[in-house]
Amino acid sequence: MTSIFSKFDGIAGALGSLVEAGGRNPFSVVIEKPVSSTVGIIEGRETLLFGTNNYLGLSQSPRAIKAAQEAAATCGVGTTGSRIANGTQSLHRQLERRIADYFGRRDAMVFSTGYQANLGMISTLAGKDDYLILDADSHASIYDGSRLSPAQVIRFRHNDADDLYKRLKRLDGTPGAKLIVVEGIYSMTGNVPPIAEMVAVKRETGAYLLVDEAHSFGVMGEHGRGIAEQAGVEADVDFIVGTFSKSLGTVGGYCVSDHPELELVRLNCRPYMFTASLPPEVIAATMAALEDMAEHPELRTQLMDNAARLHAGFHGLGLNASKQVSPVIAVTLEEIGQAIVMWNRLLDLGVYVNLSLPPATPDSRPLLRCSVMATHTAEQIDKAIAIFKQAALDANALPAAA
Ligand code: PMP
Repeated sequence: MTSIFSKFDGIAGALGSLVEAGGRNPFSVVIEKPVSSTVGIIEGRETLLFGTNNYLGLSQSPRAIKAAQEAAATCGVGTTGSRIANGTQSLHRQLERRIADYFGRRDAMVFSTGYQANLGMISTLAGKDDYLILDADSHASIYDGSRLSPAQVIRFRHNDADDLYKRLKRLDGTPGAKLIVVEGIYSMTGNVPPIAEMVAVKRETGAYLLVDEAHSFGVMGEHGRGIAEQAGVEADVDFIVGTFSKSLGTVGGYCVSDHPELELVRLNCRPYMFTASLPPEVIAATMAALEDMAEHPELRTQLMDNAARLHAGFHGLGLNASKQVSPVIAVTLEEIGQAIVMWNRLLDLGVYVNLSLPPATPDSRPLLRCSVMATHTAEQIDKAIAIFKQAALDANALPAAA
């Protein structure tokens, strides 16, 4: 009889060789204890964290911790139900109002994760005769949302506004609505889209635009509202989707919009309707972290200074690091074996980053995905750069001249 698990034979073999090559499984690293936002205990040792999404360090916010404790004490630790049944407490409505106000929008929907926010918005908005126009390097939650939708899916070349235009023009005269989906900062590479050009395409073709600001919320724009704020195009974005699990340091997703029909999406959106709502302590911590973010714009300046420091350091070593400066900096390597050795050496020497292997990477080369926080000190960044140099030497991954 066929084993139900035989479909995993390929991945089991790949994982086996991965562990054999490096001595540990890169996908089951345990942070035994977070010491601060930037340091965690891994394998019993203090390790610098350069592979989180905690851009502003707010997972450790004292105000958010206190708010969570108080909410749990007064409202309990869970809602035991869906937003459209027993799972909406006053706190949920308050958070929706605050997030809508933060973006200056009419309304907001709060989801249990950012993944579900994309899954829900994309699958609900794009119906049978509609078209979903996706950047080829879209996050899994965007692709999964498009699979749940009956709409026709069309991909355009990553960050290429001309290709987007061409593909939309081919749909001229078709009756369905067109929804373009792009991200503010691409999570693996740190690439930032030419959003103003994409907005021009949207305007000319009459499409709708959804921007996933998962990695750009709290990071870009004067108030941290993301790439649309930074580029001055917020009025042209129909739906902004985001997550609380990165800059705000908690968990949960949202969509803000000025379209009054958002209220109707609530009643048609399966990933919103058929799952339990966020627990009170998470909602309270998220509102507190949002206050932290609003009151401390200097965190964003510090974050970008830190990103520039790590970016310059990597380029100084001759590593093939992301071109644009953003808190996500990817170091691309040529061979998987090299990436595995280097990732393991980094951890041996005290730096944790994310290892990303093809086919999960955009151009079929392996990546070491690094992320920077506002709370990293200059010394921590310099130490990480020095450790990168050593690990790259050990992995034979530095150009000859370096
Ligand atoms: N969108 C993007 C671009 C992401 O990178 C992620 C998470 N990595 C999500 C959505 C989903 O967010 P969450 O992890 O909060 O569910």
